[in-house]
Amino acid sequence: MKDQTKLIRTQTNQTTYREHNTPLYLTSSFTFESAEQMRDTFSNELEGQIYSRYSNPNLDEFIQKMCLLENKPAGFATASGMAAVYLGLVSFLSAGDHILASCALFGSTHQILDQILPRFGITVSYVDPDQKDEWSEQITNKTKLLIVETPSNPGLKIIDLEFCGVLCNTHDLLFIVDNCFATPILQKPADYGANLIIHSATKYLDGQGRVLGGIIVGDEDLMERVVFMARHTGPVLSPFHAWLLSKSLETLPLRMKAHSENALSVAKELSSSPTIKKVNYPFLSNFPHYELARKQMSMGGGIVTFELDGDIEQVFRFINHLNMLSITSNLGDARSIVTHPATTTHSKMDPENRKKAGITDQLIRISVGLEAVEDINSDIKQALAKV
Ligand SMILES: *Cc1c(COP(=O)(O)O)cnc(C)c1O
Repeated sequence: MKDQTKLIRTQTNQTTYREHNTPLYLTSSFTFESAEQMRDTFSNELEGQIYSRYSNPNLDEFIQKMCLLENKPAGFATASGMAAVYLGLVSFLSAGDHILASCALFGSTHQILDQILPRFGITVSYVDPDQKDEWSEQITNKTKLLIVETPSNPGLKIIDLEFCGVLCNTHDLLFIVDNCFATPILQKPADYGANLIIHSATKYLDGQGRVLGGIIVGDEDLMERVVFMARHTGPVLSPFHAWLLSKSLETLPLRMKAHSENALSVAKELSSSPTIKKVNYPFLSNFPHYELARKQMSMGGGIVTFELDGDIEQVFRFINHLNMLSITSNLGDARSIVTHPATTTHSKMDPENRKKAGITDQLIRISVGLEAVEDINSDIKQALAKV
């Protein structure tokens, strides 16, 4: 079956009411017919639901769909993308361990690596996506894992997944990919040996800016450790959010195609504007990592960034003159969104790393939505004219 069909036809078992759509299982716990059945379910001899901090039918359905998409056997759904990132790290690390990380990571992921994990004796070395030959020099016998994000938020750095897979294999590192921007519709990190794949479901998986959510999927033995950590620390997704997210996945392939087509048009339109210094979009032929993007992604995704030829006041003037685009930090919404990363999502990042991650003061991020592309382009054009 194709992804599109799997996403629409994967469903929890029907109840005795023979409902067509999956019901919402708003229940904190599940009952047993006998003390013996309860004992055997708790000891894993019997399969079954126990308590919604552990699992729930709505979460199972969402997880199952994501596992099918990412070609991984197991998963856990979390209350936010950051809970999934944190779980993916702490489930495998102990005091003294070392992490290799791309410097182009989501702002809060940097905060975990720079501010939280060091308190527990875990250190990090950042590597520059554009200096691949230097990565292996940073690996020590304490290095446990590599974490990358591609395309990165918001610098749109493309990390060579095949290179990372080989590096992790050679040095026996866990390979973790934040696949939020591409989604498994455009890119499947498992094809390159990724062991764990993380998503902020808040973005394209939901696609309409309604709920927070996250998910981590991976190999069976690794996910056992993640699930142990998650069950006993409690960052689980709500059944209601899982129900919404599972329904959203039915349209993910259609939406990603439409986001990518609109974004390519916006990127081309921006490229022809004289007030713009640089446009970044993975599928623009003059993009520095165009070949790599073409190799590992099937389409370019919905995010376009560009650098205005001007100072920060002009950047703000552009943003303030947009009539239709929303000024907000979310992305992956049906509505087009504008954000200024340097003063918002990535403002707390170390300035040196911010530069390496491609986030200049002039950089503007547009999450291209599903409105008619003519309307998106004309709103951007009129605002640029007022800069
Ligand atoms: C938004 C985002 C996250 C964090 O997800 P939340 O759902 O907001 O917690 C992590 N990684 C990337 C790449 C993101 O864009």
